[in-house]
Amino acid sequence: MYQKNDELVVTITDVGTNGEGIGKVTGFTLFIKDAIIGDEVRVKIMKTKKNYAFAKLLEVITPSKHRVEPICEVARQCGGCQLQAMDYETQLQFKEAKVYNNIKRIGGLDSCQIEMHPIIASPKTLNYRNKAQFPVGKNADGNIVYGFYAGRTHSIIESGDCKLGICPDGVDVNAKVMETIKTFMEVQGIEPYDEESHSGLVRHVLIRIGEKTKQVSVCIVINGNEIPNAEYLTQRLLEIPGVCDISVNINKERNNVIMGLHTNQLYGPGYIEDYMDEVKFRISPQSFYQVNPYSTELLYRKALEYADLTGKEIIWDLYSGIGTISLFLAQDAKKVIGVEIVPDAVSDAKINAEINGIGNVEFLEGAAEDIVPKYFSENPDAEGCKPDVIVVDPPRKGCDMKLLKTMIEMNPERIVYVSCDSATLARDISLLSMSGYRMKEMTPVDMFPQTVHVETVVLMEKQ
Ligand code: SAH
Repeated sequence: MYQKNDELVVTITDVGTNGEGIGKVTGFTLFIKDAIIGDEVRVKIMKTKKNYAFAKLLEVITPSKHRVEPICEVARQCGGCQLQAMDYETQLQFKEAKVYNNIKRIGGLDSCQIEMHPIIASPKTLNYRNKAQFPVGKNADGNIVYGFYAGRTHSIIESGDCKLGICPDGVDVNAKVMETIKTFMEVQGIEPYDEESHSGLVRHVLIRIGEKTKQVSVCIVINGNEIPNAEYLTQRLLEIPGVCDISVNINKERNNVIMGLHTNQLYGPGYIEDYMDEVKFRISPQSFYQVNPYSTELLYRKALEYADLTGKEIIWDLYSGIGTISLFLAQDAKKVIGVEIVPDAVSDAKINAEINGIGNVEFLEGAAEDIVPKYFSENPDAEGCKPDVIVVDPPRKGCDMKLLKTMIEMNPERIVYVSCDSATLARDISLLSMSGYRMKEMTPVDMFPQTVHVETVVLMEKQ
């Protein structure tokens, strides 16, 4: 039997759900972060369980043919990218297998019930993210640093030039914004936030770039009421190409949540705009907007294809964000009702409908699991209670049971489920499958190259 600190050589034969390499030695399964399928590696055992263990990669003895040189210097330490050392084709295979296995194991569907199409690759595998969130802190030498959290911790890995960020016209806007803020803090003697002592001012910086419009918004999250000499900082930030919206978000809570409830505008209208296909969107800092615009268009087209609209349909778009999917659907439907919990996103959605001249949509504010059952019990004869299609696009935790039950009672012809977590997707599909719906087809979409995350669109049809 192996014990902590034992060193051994193993060949990696599989990939775990978090992208870790899996190797087998007599009767024992090893999980090894940063090892790639096909690698022969020397590892050190860190933690043992009955018949498996977690081990640390010490040396790649024979590299796998799927191994590539990570483009980012801090790829191993940073918690953002788990798969940078894996070639893109293998990343896609890993994601397909992850979705398929979850649907089978957690969803309890047989192979013959799973109609899965090949994954849609991302048109860009680097420089695809339109949003960055940098924590700001201090390093061991007491210098101000910004970057990303190391996996599962809150220690900041210094990195100004994340390789995933969009660089409009080749300019690394994220790095420019962060350097400007850091220099300003150093000159003004402004302290970054310290979690331990709950002191210091600057906690996070959020940057969002409109891929088509190249508009940039900067939101600085602070543990206080204002930034001293903010006027000067504003002027420096405005020198960076595209920056047109600057705000300060107040978060004085001692918690893990990045943003607080109040945002004060330093410059600009409080939002940026972007286009997807021909539709124009307004996006506020608190609103969700898909991070990979290149794949998002492909995802929405797939969702639209699965909705199979003729122009007569009544549709619910649950978890509607700023109304992106709703507005795409509305162009081919009779009516769309969107439901979203974040108030800023709901007001963005209403304005987005207006600026695109789309009148057959309505947006309701609140939790889908409250709004939809209430609507159904209070207006049983309303048009909305007999929808043709329900689209859901929940966060990772999936749909609430109460919501799923009401959806089933509403008895739509089709349910289009857009998911960013195939485990909760599988759980929810399992319930739908036991309640009169069958999986017609599904397609994974790679929205997050270099990471273990994968998006999936599923069409469930009434039996
Ligand atoms: N469909 C949109 C948003 C998807 S992200 C798009 O593609 O852009 C999920 C959205 O669900 C977020 O906007 C989040 O604020 C919202 N949300 C989270 N919990 C919710 C709930 N219980 N009810 C309604 N909306 C919720």
